[in-house]
Parts: sequence; C-alpha cells; structure tokens
Amino acid sequence: MENLPSCPKCNSEYTYEDGALLVCPECAHEWSAVAPEEDSEDVLVHKDSNGVVLSAGDTVTIIKDLDVKGAGFTAKRGTAVRNISLTSNPEQIEGRVNGVKIVLLTCFLKKS
Ligand SMILES: [Zn+2]
Repeated sequence: MENLPSCPKCNSEYTYEDGALLVCPECAHEWSAVAPEEDSEDVLVHKDSNGVVLSAGDTVTIIKDLDVKGAGFTAKRGTAVRNISLTSNPEQIEGRVNGVKIVLLTCFLKKS
C-alpha cells in the first residue's frame, strides 16, 4: 500500500494516483502529486576548504598556486579574490584574479 497524502480539501485518506495527478474519490478533487514548494536551488551551499559557508560578495584567499587554463597565468597562493559570485555548482565560485573573471574550486579557497 502506497503512502499517498490525504485529500487537501476533504482530508479523505482514499486518494489514488492518476498519472501525475492525485485524485480524491470522495470530493473529486484533483491535484498535482509533485509539490511545487520545494526549491532545490535554495539548498545549494558553497563551502571553502575549512567548511565555512561562502556567500556572493565574500572575499576569499587562494591557498594553492592554481594554473588558470585559458588565461595563461597562475593564480598565486595568498591572492585575495574579492566580491566572489556563486555558481550552480557547489564546488565552484567565480571571481576576478589579475582582472580576469575565472572559476575557482572552493576546495582551494579560504574565506578571509
Ligand atoms: Zn477530497
């Protein structure tokens, strides 16, 4: 027996699934089985090498010399990156180093 939610209108427990919808046989109410409230993007958390949560606009310090592919320079250990932006990948942030906007792995960063 599947554990379906009760009808939001009449609280009947005899709801059943009809495709993507849930249907209540008692009051004929139909609703989507997929709750639209869940916004997974809000759960995305960026953390530095110490597990400190990073936010957009933070300043971080690079803790390891990093070759920046495509830009032709090395981001030196100890370089401060100001005003970072977060990406959709929790392991990456964006920031300007030597005037170039690059993607940085959060495991090589420390929040300043
Ligand atoms: Zn109902």
